[in-house]
Formats: sequence, structure tokens, C-alpha cells
Amino acid sequence: MKDAERQVKQISPKSEDFSKWYLEIIRKTEMSDYAPMKGMMIIRPYGYAIWENIQRLLDRRLKETGHVNAYFPLFIPESFLQMEMDHLKGFAPEVAWVTQGGKDELEERLAVRPTSEAIIGSMYSKWVKSWRDLPILINQWANIVRWEKVTRPFLRTTEFLWQEGHTAHETGAQAVEETMRILSLYADFIADELAIPVVPGKKTEWDKFAGAVDTFAIEALMGDGKALQMGTSHNLGQHFSKVFNIRFEDRDQNLQYVWQTSWGMTTRLIGAAVMVHGDDSGLRLPPAVAPIQVVIVPISLGNWKEEVLPVAQKIQAELQRAGLRVRLDDREEFTPGWKFSDWEMRGVPLRLEVGPRDVKENKVIAVRRDIKKKEPLAIAGLAESLPPLLADIQKSLFDQARAFLRENTRFVQNYEEFKTTIEAKRGFLKAFWCGAPACEDKVKEETMATIRVIPLDQETGKPRGRCLSCGREAETIVYFARSY
Ligand SMILES: [Zn+2]
Repeated sequence: MKDAERQVKQISPKSEDFSKWYLEIIRKTEMSDYAPMKGMMIIRPYGYAIWENIQRLLDRRLKETGHVNAYFPLFIPESFLQMEMDHLKGFAPEVAWVTQGGKDELEERLAVRPTSEAIIGSMYSKWVKSWRDLPILINQWANIVRWEKVTRPFLRTTEFLWQEGHTAHETGAQAVEETMRILSLYADFIADELAIPVVPGKKTEWDKFAGAVDTFAIEALMGDGKALQMGTSHNLGQHFSKVFNIRFEDRDQNLQYVWQTSWGMTTRLIGAAVMVHGDDSGLRLPPAVAPIQVVIVPISLGNWKEEVLPVAQKIQAELQRAGLRVRLDDREEFTPGWKFSDWEMRGVPLRLEVGPRDVKENKVIAVRRDIKKKEPLAIAGLAESLPPLLADIQKSLFDQARAFLRENTRFVQNYEEFKTTIEAKRGFLKAFWCGAPACEDKVKEETMATIRVIPLDQETGKPRGRCLSCGREAETIVYFARSY
């Protein structure tokens, strides 16, 4: 067991230095590595397999709601971005430019897409003629480049992977409906598949997407009490359709501009799953997205290769037939103890231990990663008994995360209480806010906390409390937090 202990001891405890723990975990589990270029990352197979599961599960939900996939170019002509000044100003500081193709200087610079509203809008203006062409419900899976100054693997990198939806509708009401449909689709997806509870809400005026009428976001609380934005859904109104001239003949034969939305989620979700569920022993991956759901570790005692290994192989084949993602760890160079802690670190939800005595008794020892509980299970019928167990692990991870979110969401009455709480405990702090930007600025300057979202379930229209910052009567409750 000595080498096993060493393996785990190499990880900094989560409670001591969360940031160091995070960086060590994602490198030791081989999820990602740093690229030779500053601010860029390699997504290694173990990390990419999580992304593939996210893609598959999210893509299914998007298709079930009528969306289809397409692909648009990586480059956007500068003139397209310049057509929309707000949009350009919002992204200009982070745009990477291509100025040369082969040996020739380009006549017009090309932006490496920081997002695709401009190029997609220009195409929609060609494709949309009549109300019969609407709605357009297109999504693309792509990579994006934003030249970030401070980066952290999965959370903020110069290039990242995402999906971006771009829809066009006949009416403003339909665009609003789509914006909210995606917001709740995202929230459900993250809760169901990543086992992370989220807070949906609206962004403040100054925090919305460049060119949007309204931006909605879902926020989650990481293990260190800092918030992370998990996805955004924008109601673009007719802002871009007027710029890119996307017009259609409506049902009364009048020319109208379309109403649009755009929305996206990124590889950041992988970082969130690490930070929400991980513990001192490493990752704890939700079964729905785990690259390996079940690892079988044969106990190498006696003539295990003749007695144990064939049984383990048979179990593996049966579970694979049942659609589970299974790995049989028959490596000879490592002890079972070393393997236990290695797979624990990699967050595999369920481990099956099989030794010579277990084979005689027709059982395995199942060990849950979420609560480290051991129980014997009959070898016969594992294909039926494991799926409910994995579902229970998925639920237990969600329940633990939800309990953490509840414990760390606090309503605060006044600014003194706010300052001491954010310093000592972080988390989400709910407070009344009058709506003035200056009031948020003051809080941000003094506490590093910002308004994450204005939650949707507000009773509006009457003053109900006093602004955290200025003390004036206020009717809006907002979520403050320090964030990534
Ligand atoms: Zn105020």
C-alpha cells in the first residue's frame, strides 16, 4: 500500500489550497496539459472523453427541441465585425487577427472568430426571404479564440471548444421564448448530467453580451465558494438583423427584420465538474459523463490469472454489452492498492474488486467513489444491478452539491454583514439592490464580489428592502459572489 499512499499524497489537499489542488488534479488525472503557447491547453483523451459525453447528451437535447447543426468558417472579415460597433467594441480587446496568407499580405484582415454572430448573420440575410423560412434553429459545435490575459485550464483559455446556437424568428415574443427555453434546457442539462445545481437569472445591463437586448446566465457555486458562469442565453432582438439586413416578408406581406437569439456553453463545464465534486482523493465524476463508469480490479493473489482474470473478463464483456463504459485494469506492474487509489483519483464512479475468494463465492466487492462505501454484489445479474447503483451515485453527487449550494447561499441585510460573510465564507450572498451601477462598483471595489445574476423569481413593483450599498429603498434581490 505504500506506493498507493504516495500517489494520493502527491495531491495538495483541497481544503488547503483549492487553486493548487485544481491544477494538480487535472494534470495528474491526464485530463489536460499545458501547450507550448501561453494560455492554451491540450485536452488529453481522459478530458476529451468527458467533452464527448457532454456533446452527445447536450446535442440530443438540442435536437429534441428542433435544433439542427451546421458549420461556419473560422475566420470573419474585419468589415463584418465593423458593421456592428457595440459588438466589435465588446470583443476587440480579445480578437486574434490573420494578416497574411502564405506569402501574401491580405487585403482585409480576418478575425479568428471570438463568436459567430457576424458571419452567421450575413448568411441568414441571404437565406431568409419569407416567414416560411422561419424559424431558423441552427447550432454549431466549434472552437473559439479569445486572447485572454489570465488563463486557467478549462476555465479560461485562449482557445476553447463550445456550442453556439443562433436562431431567427418571426416575432419578438418567439425570440424571448427561445431565449428562456434554452436557459432552462441548460439548467436541466447541468443538473441532470453534470449533477450540478445552478442559479438561473438575468445579467445586469453592463454585464450583458455585446449587442444583446438581454443576457441570461446560469451560475453555479464551486467547491471554494466562488461562482462560475456555466452558460449564457441572449435575446438579441432585432439588433443584428438590422445591421446585417436579415429581412423577411411577413404573413401580411410586409417586410420585417427577424428577431434573434444566441446561446452557448463551453469546455468550462469540465472544470466545473472537477471543482464542484472533487475531494482530497481526486476527481469524483458523475456517471453520466464519466469516461469510465466502472473499473474492474482483479486482486492478484495466488494463480489469479487462471482463476480470477477470466471471471473479470466475462464481467467486463457483459457490462459492455449492457452499454456501460467499463475498464478492466489487468496491469501487472501495479498492486491492487495502487490501482484503487489511482482510479479513485481519476474519479471513476464505481470500482469492482474481484479476488480468488470472491470468485468462489460468486460475488464482487463494489466500492462507490462518491461515499467510498463497499458492498458485496452477486456476479450473476451485475448488468441489472449496476445501472441503478450508478443512477444513485449520480443523484448522491447532485444532492451533496445542492446541500453545499444551500449552506453557502445566505441572505444578508446590511453591508457590514456582507463584508464579513464574503471574507469568511464566500458563497452566494443574496441582497437587495437599487439598480444603480455605482452601488455594484462600490461593492466590487471593496469586496471583489459582483452581481452574478438577478434571479427570475422576483416580486416586482414594490420596494421591499434597502439597497445593500446605498441604503435606498429597493425592490430587486440579486446574487452577489466572488467569481472565476
Ligand atoms: Zn444602491
